[in-house]
Parts: sequence; C-alpha cells; structure tokens
Amino acid sequence: MSRNHRPAGYYRLAARWLDAHLAQGIEVVPCAVCGLPVDLNHRGRDPDSRSVDHLVPVSKGGPMLDTSLWRVAHYRCNTARGNKTPRPKLRPSRAW
Ligand SMILES: [Zn+2]
Repeated sequence: MSRNHRPAGYYRLAARWLDAHLAQGIEVVPCAVCGLPVDLNHRGRDPDSRSVDHLVPVSKGGPMLDTSLWRVAHYRCNTARGNKTPRPKLRPSRAW
C-alpha cells in the first residue's frame, strides 16, 4: 500500500541528476530542509550525504521523476522529514 515505492531506475536517475551539478562545477548547495550546505561529493547512506528531496511529496501525488521538482537535501533531513506532515504529539490521557 506504500505509495512511496521508488520505480526501477529511480536511484540511478537521482544519482545522475546529482552528478549533473558536479559536472557544472557546483559542489555545495543549500539543503532544501535545513538550509545548511550539502556536499554533493558526499555519497552513500550516512546522515550528511546528499539526497533528492521532492518538492511535492510523491505520497501527495507529486511526480516521482520530474527533475524540475527535485531539490537537494541531506540524507538525514530527507529521511527525518519523510513525506509526512508532523504528527501531533501524543497528549497525556485525560481519561483518568
Ligand atoms: Zn539538511
């Protein structure tokens, strides 16, 4: 039921899109989430590495592969934000 599924080829396209920045000599861009610099040479799965953030979350009907709606974000920021709206904190029960 997950609408967050990435189609085949997505990660390769994302890597190519990120590499295109480097090809233009752009090595650092601000993170779309926290605003701190993202090092585009930083690959992999650790928290500070680069990742693609969708301007319109795919779960909200945004296009998965429209690179004009892509932004760069830290892997950490991207996964922390996910595609959810912030969940209201659980309140202490008033049932007592
Ligand atoms: Zn960030």
